[in-house]
Amino acid sequence: MKHRGILIVVSGFSGAGKGTLMKKLLETYDNYALSVSMTTRAPRQGETDGKEYFFVTKEEFLKKVSQDGLIEHAEYCENYYGTPREYVEKQLEAGKDVILEIEIQGALKVKEKFPNTLLLFVMPPNAAELERRLRGRGTEDDEVIRKRMHRAQEEAEGIEKYDFIVVNDDLERCVSQMHSMISAAHYAPGRNKEFIDEIRKELKSWS
Ligand code: 5GP
Repeated sequence: MKHRGILIVVSGFSGAGKGTLMKKLLETYDNYALSVSMTTRAPRQGETDGKEYFFVTKEEFLKKVSQDGLIEHAEYCENYYGTPREYVEKQLEAGKDVILEIEIQGALKVKEKFPNTLLLFVMPPNAAELERRLRGRGTEDDEVIRKRMHRAQEEAEGIEKYDFIVVNDDLERCVSQMHSMISAAHYAPGRNKEFIDEIRKELKSWS
């Protein structure tokens, strides 16, 4: 049964460790493609254009929006973020499971447009650990950390809209759990409509 890939959204509070999880997931398994978003946020130290993000000006971002070049976009802590359409469509067509690492507003927009999207929410084991991880990055000042902790509080209200939570305490275990969740999701009836319809058609010929 050849599958078209499925779309997977991974959200989680800033600092929950999504980046590390995604990196390990992609290193461990070869059926995933990670979408690179476009953002108006300034690059952090060590980030390169085209790798973590496509860093653009607000004008460039809005131009892409007007060309319908983004699947979704949202504002987060005073910057714009969006998912370029072309890469996602190509990879899905090639049978890859495509991961979008995006925040909740974008996640819900994607789910609305593509109802078969699998929504995963990455959480730290507790809030103190989240703050510790944000500070540990050493790239954000107190004000940014305060904003991101506040934003986490807002985002926590939407967790039930996701299909599964992933508690990020042990990297290896988390990666293997995520892979299991995604593998199982492939077999949901809604993601196998063609196959089910085909069997139904075949069965009809018996009546
Ligand atoms: P950061 O500035 O820490 O890299 O990202 C801030 C937030 O924006 C994170 O929650 C991240 O998942 C989210 N984000 C990154 N790219 C996108 C995108 O293309 N669309 C949306 N809606 N959110 C994104």
